[in-house]
Amino acid sequence: APAFAESHLPIVDKPLELTIHMHWPRAQGYGPGGDTNTLYPVEEVARERTNVHLIDKTSGRNTKDNYEAMNLLLATGDLPDIVGGNRIQQPVNQYGPEGAFLPLNDLVNEHAPNIKKFWDEHPGLKEAISAYDGNYYYIPYLPDGKYGRAWFIRQDWLDKLGLEQPDNVEELHDVMVAFRDQDPNGNGLKDEVPYFARDWEEVLRPLTLWDARTSGSDTYHDFYVTPAGAIAHPYAQEAYRDAMANLAQWYEEGLIDAEVFTRGSSSRDYLLGENLGGLTHDWFASTSGYNAALAEKIPGFNFIPFLPPKSAGGVRMEEHRRIPIKPDGWAITYTNEHPVETIKYFDYFFSEEGALLSNFGVEGKTWNMIDGEPVFTDEVLNSGTPVNSQMYLEGAQIYRGYPQDYRYEWQWTAEAARKGIELYDTEDLLVDQFLGVAFNQDEQAVYDKYWPSIQTYMLERQQAWILGSGDIKADWESYIATLEKMGYSKVIDVMNSAYTRQYG
Ligand code: CA
Repeated sequence: APAFAESHLPIVDKPLELTIHMHWPRAQGYGPGGDTNTLYPVEEVARERTNVHLIDKTSGRNTKDNYEAMNLLLATGDLPDIVGGNRIQQPVNQYGPEGAFLPLNDLVNEHAPNIKKFWDEHPGLKEAISAYDGNYYYIPYLPDGKYGRAWFIRQDWLDKLGLEQPDNVEELHDVMVAFRDQDPNGNGLKDEVPYFARDWEEVLRPLTLWDARTSGSDTYHDFYVTPAGAIAHPYAQEAYRDAMANLAQWYEEGLIDAEVFTRGSSSRDYLLGENLGGLTHDWFASTSGYNAALAEKIPGFNFIPFLPPKSAGGVRMEEHRRIPIKPDGWAITYTNEHPVETIKYFDYFFSEEGALLSNFGVEGKTWNMIDGEPVFTDEVLNSGTPVNSQMYLEGAQIYRGYPQDYRYEWQWTAEAARKGIELYDTEDLLVDQFLGVAFNQDEQAVYDKYWPSIQTYMLERQQAWILGSGDIKADWESYIATLEKMGYSKVIDVMNSAYTRQYG
């Protein structure tokens, strides 16, 4: 079991009320589903244990738009003690150095042993959330678990055609050709779609099979850290040129869903449900659910994770992974007259007791400790409602700053996904992520001036090359020259100056 620093409870002898803005997709307001007249069960226990009482003071409760809510909050000029919710990193890093939020570095070092311990055990994360002045201004929600997406294949189609799982990019090509030509769904029609993607951006993922990158993080089209330790963009690299030429060839051969850019988010439901899709790259947990869902409709249906095929350069890599820090969490405003008590309260959710409370809800109500492990009750696991949705109403798994515990999710992950995760664990597949930079005002201005139109141009060209209008190798020099004219190097310069300042 992980060791936790000692906590001193209660934090205050007499109840202390702190006001909070808590605005996130599941609740606009600090209460179950945004009902601020009802206390979360987790809040009730946190009050008993800490003597700190959080009182709702959320702005923008009638909008789900967090930017709008944040603007309303900042416009009031009457800030609550705590500002929490989703995507607070950018506003606190912008307004923190200007004085609206308190820097947390010293408060954590002096009063938050559990948070400090987390930073010590996870080097680089504190730097990643820091603003341009070197201070950090919020305590993030910290996801746990390694894997997000995986490669999936119709194992029953492989079996039917007498084929092995593809181990490298050439074998993957041959399997896709067989799926296209040999009627594995057995209807006499050449209607199979070898590779499909629910999110069109996943059409890019095969680029990694020729040693290019599609993104440096769990955000599509993101910058990435080169092996030399600098920031670059994947779509301006020669590896991208060569990989894209191969991907366009696959598209031309009919190995990739011809409607990948237009079919939309229901494509996975449709192409699996109609017994048409052969391969995809999608989330472990949700994609594994189709075996149970389609067992009756499609006898033998078996869509399972397989290891990423080795690239042309011999590298087996899974580019997608869970990000270790989110822009969500909570911060202390300059109006807060109890910063020490507040940081101690934040620290409580990083203690063993508080981390269990913020992940699993109230012990004895939604979970019990069995052989040293927190285990959800049968009622929670078998209610028919996803466990995360239940937790949101308990006040657990909400976007306060806390360390997520993957044991929370593993308990309701389907067997096929569990096996897939164990398979992925047999190799060292993941690469380091680009965790973002905090610009100073000059850098931000350069980025805002040039980057949006550059990315639009990159994506327009990308789609054209995949669809076969234009030849990337023939177009490459003029493409790079156009990027340059649009300010690519200027953006890369500010990315790198910010990156060097932040990560050293
Ligand atoms: Ca067929």
